[in-house]
Amino acid sequence: MANNATKPTKIFIVEDERPIARLLQLTLEREGFKTASEPNGRRAYERILQEKYDLVLLDVMLPEMDGMEICKRVREVSDVPIIMLTARDEIKDKVEGLDLGADDYMTKPFAAPELLARIRGALRRHNDRVREAEETRYVVKNMILYPERYEVTVKGVPVELTHKEYELLKYLVENKRNVLSRDQILQTVWGYDYIGDTNVVDVYISYLRTKIDDKFGEKYIYTTRGVGYAIRD
Ligand code: CA
Repeated sequence: MANNATKPTKIFIVEDERPIARLLQLTLEREGFKTASEPNGRRAYERILQEKYDLVLLDVMLPEMDGMEICKRVREVSDVPIIMLTARDEIKDKVEGLDLGADDYMTKPFAAPELLARIRGALRRHNDRVREAEETRYVVKNMILYPERYEVTVKGVPVELTHKEYELLKYLVENKRNVLSRDQILQTVWGYDYIGDTNVVDVYISYLRTKIDDKFGEKYIYTTRGVGYAIRD
């Protein structure tokens, strides 16, 4: 994990112009980053695959393999953040670099504060992606339920649910495709000691249908007559 207190963030500088590489190294190390550098394109590509870097600063024009090719090849196997370093006004390079999966680009010569801001931005976005990928989520059609966040979205739009509505939906989603009886739902969502009308399940199913199926014009909750309810893709 980048940017944590116990392990310094390792940045790989791929640049064949020594003075620039040296300047980058000094700037980054002064900020507490660990650096390694490599002037040769092909070796840089091999080192990116073999060693574990938190971010790569990648020059475009390099001997043996150019930055575009490196970026394209690395992206086939790794999502390490890559910031392309391009000569001034090489707009085409910028666009191409981003198309190949680079996270950002900088035109040379660059000011240290801007470079550092872009590095921190790329690291932060990468960490967010990693965290999001690790997060538990249930997906049904266009609906995503995030149990850790207590959040439900349909087509990216948050759905406002009461506590019981959320618990009911979560139970259905956790058992996607299975038909759950009213009794099962009552016991799990309302508890064994619930004394009240068993109609409460039907009432809450109708609340969910209003807030999800009807609102987004897509069928999620199915009734199996005489048995119970299920949520399906
Ligand atoms: Ca170069």
